[in-house]
Amino acid sequence: MPKKYLGQNFLFDPSILHRIVEAADITHNDTVVEIGPGLGTLTKILAGVAKKVIAIELDLELYTKLKEEIEKIKSSHPFTHLPIYPFNIELIHGDALKYPYEELEPFKVVANIPYYITTPIIFRLIETRKNLKSMTLTIQKEVAQRIVRKPNTKDYGVLSIAVQYYGKPELKFIIPKGAFRPVPKVDSAVIHIEIYEKPKVIVADEKLFFRIVKTAFAQRRKTLSNSLKPISKDIKEILINAGIEPIRRAETLSIEEFARLSDLVKNAG
Ligand code: SAM
Repeated sequence: MPKKYLGQNFLFDPSILHRIVEAADITHNDTVVEIGPGLGTLTKILAGVAKKVIAIELDLELYTKLKEEIEKIKSSHPFTHLPIYPFNIELIHGDALKYPYEELEPFKVVANIPYYITTPIIFRLIETRKNLKSMTLTIQKEVAQRIVRKPNTKDYGVLSIAVQYYGKPELKFIIPKGAFRPVPKVDSAVIHIEIYEKPKVIVADEKLFFRIVKTAFAQRRKTLSNSLKPISKDIKEILINAGIEPIRRAETLSIEEFARLSDLVKNAG
């Protein structure tokens, strides 16, 4: 029985699974981390093209089942000395939110993410991005749209800026909810995020930059001179100095404008 609380909605359609792997642009030199391999449908295709697949599964029952299946395939395989499928799969029983990604060699993430941890996983990966090259994630369509949105659109917000600051997201394709078993409530989308070597903009104080972004969007209906009052009593003047009209709202600001504002707030002490 699939465990709903672990976000277990499985994909079986080979054409969809192959499109995900294609979107991830995996070559035989790549180490891939898969979060939540579940029944291993995606894992096996990934292992067929990657150098190595590290698959992290939290559910002991699914982990054990997949482990046994892989061991069985291994025992009937003639090429035991080659680092190819199925010998290139490292299955780990654990929580993907706690995995030490920063200790890995350069890697790409490919995952059909359990819904209940979509944003925590993205933030965990960003936080530990030292060797992360890209993420190809199957997530709720609505969250994918928020991630790729540009200024002056309804869904543009903290998540769009947080991801676009560190990488270049692209919405690849939609997966209708009917493709999953069990069928979830909403459609999904596959999103590919190339991680930049350096953030999109350079700011003097990253913590302050994100505090300003969060504060501005916490009251997104308000003008910036009102919503950013908790940041500085002189915010109106600083906005003008940054070339940003104080009557504008958070959703109209580009990342570059938030960066400029953040540096001027920092300078103003
Ligand atoms: N990859 C499979 C597929 O596409 O059919 C399964 C995807 S299913 C949406 C999510 C998987 O993540 C499940 O196998 C679930 O048990 C596992 N999972 C849930 N929480 C997890 C966590 N914190 N760490 C690792 N795996 C987790």
